[in-house]
Amino acid sequence: MPHPSAPVIAVIGAGFSGVMTALNLLRRSPEAKVILFERRTPVGLGAAYATHNPGHRLNVRAGNMSAWPDDPAHFVTWLRARNFGLGPADFATRADYGRYLQGLVAEIAEGPEGAGRLVVTPDAVVGIEPGGDGWRLRCAMGRSVTAHAVVLALGNPPPARPPGVDEAFAASNAYVADPWRWNAAELPPGPVMLIGTGLTMVDVALSLNDAQHGRPMLALSRRGLAPLQHDGAPPRILPAPPANDLSPLQAFAWLRRAADEHGWRTAIDATRPMTQALWRGWSPAQKQAFLRHARPFWEIHRHRLAPQVARRIAAMRATGQLTLAAGKIRSLTLEPDGFALCRWRGRGEHGGYVFRAASVINCTGPTGDVLASTDPLIQDLVKRGLARPDPLRLGFDVDDSGRVRDVSGQASPTLLAVGPATRGASWEITAVPDIRGQTVAVAETVLAALRP
Ligand SMILES: Cc1cc2nc3c(=O)[nH]c(=O)nc-3n(C[C@H](O)[C@H](O)[C@H](O)COP(=O)(O)OP(=O)(O)OC[C@H]3O[C@@H](n4cnc5c(N)ncnc54)[C@H](O)[C@@H]3O)c2cc1C
Repeated sequence: MPHPSAPVIAVIGAGFSGVMTALNLLRRSPEAKVILFERRTPVGLGAAYATHNPGHRLNVRAGNMSAWPDDPAHFVTWLRARNFGLGPADFATRADYGRYLQGLVAEIAEGPEGAGRLVVTPDAVVGIEPGGDGWRLRCAMGRSVTAHAVVLALGNPPPARPPGVDEAFAASNAYVADPWRWNAAELPPGPVMLIGTGLTMVDVALSLNDAQHGRPMLALSRRGLAPLQHDGAPPRILPAPPANDLSPLQAFAWLRRAADEHGWRTAIDATRPMTQALWRGWSPAQKQAFLRHARPFWEIHRHRLAPQVARRIAAMRATGQLTLAAGKIRSLTLEPDGFALCRWRGRGEHGGYVFRAASVINCTGPTGDVLASTDPLIQDLVKRGLARPDPLRLGFDVDDSGRVRDVSGQASPTLLAVGPATRGASWEITAVPDIRGQTVAVAETVLAALRP
């Protein structure tokens, strides 16, 4: 929808994806006005960087965490200017990365590139409909705002309720549904059951131990696989990536050969430039098979722990404080004293176990299924037929440029999505090194659509 005067673009969500889309829009257009909506304060942190715990480290080396694809040393330079004693191979705290992002917003919003053109709006958008010269947005606090284009940067939604947790238990005080919005200090003392054994579990286990040293924890997932760790210095030069037209089986054969030659970490990292292209080339059945059989193994190798985090988790496991198990919850019931009684079965076993926990925390990771979402905006988009799930239910159905497909499959030139909610199209669009390039591309796509 070309627009003759200054375009107004609404970006919904101010985590990394929304912030960087907004800043790229301002950098690339001298006229565009950006309204950046965020329902939580402070703005700019999202689920990943809204932590004050210094034990929560980035899981990507500082040298690969620049927010700007065209300035790869930008974050390391920022760290050096603050004398943190960290170099490109180190793992900064996530809180510092949040400060870095907030600094970027302030620098651009108040500097010549963006002065007066970025409006940060602390409100939740709860509905979108066509209106004016583009879209009308309804906010939770009652206001209505129009924009020529909208970018959805809704990020990492809280995990879905896992099997075994019924509605009554989910409503009880013993259950923590959102592992990114809770306070370890407020939990009652006693053992804790963690559902999930991935990166979220690691964060939660560290926070629980900080709040009550030695607190016993049982972490349970279907396979009981925990993330592996980064090790040593990264290779100076990565081997050439695989071809971009390999089937899943060929890609894994390539990985095995590369791992034999260079080590598995280097082999995994070498696939990075091709991961999205490989995914796009796979048929729906191949993608489905990858998700069913290989996803947990891919995740633990691909998204690795900083060594200092891995050491703490290993120490907790060595003392028996933290136990990881493969299995399934059979039931969760509340005891009269408010404790949870968890009955679970080990993977491949017939017998069952019982674990009494003061709290049960859902650490199963972000959910992507927009049809199962309880988020008012996502429900509204689906109800109006403005958006639909991708075929694998990983997020929104978008085309390769991030344009959201409506219920009939038509991609909108002025309603786009960025970040983890576009996983169905790109698969690896979780971490900063993947998202930062996408925010540039989405900003350019939006501006091109609005150019007179
Ligand atoms: C705990 C955790 C740790 C991580 N660690 C790393 C790491 O070390 N390195 C790395 O590269 N990646 C990491 N990631 C991956 C992470 O996905 C990306 O780095 C990045 O932060 C994603 O940003 P986002 O803006 O897409 O999502 P989010 O950070 O989830 O932000 C989305 C924002 O949108 C807001 N929002 C949603 N809906 C609305 C609405 N309707 N109205 C207004 N606001 C709304 C939310 O409140 C939220 O603030 C981590 C992720 C998590 C969850």
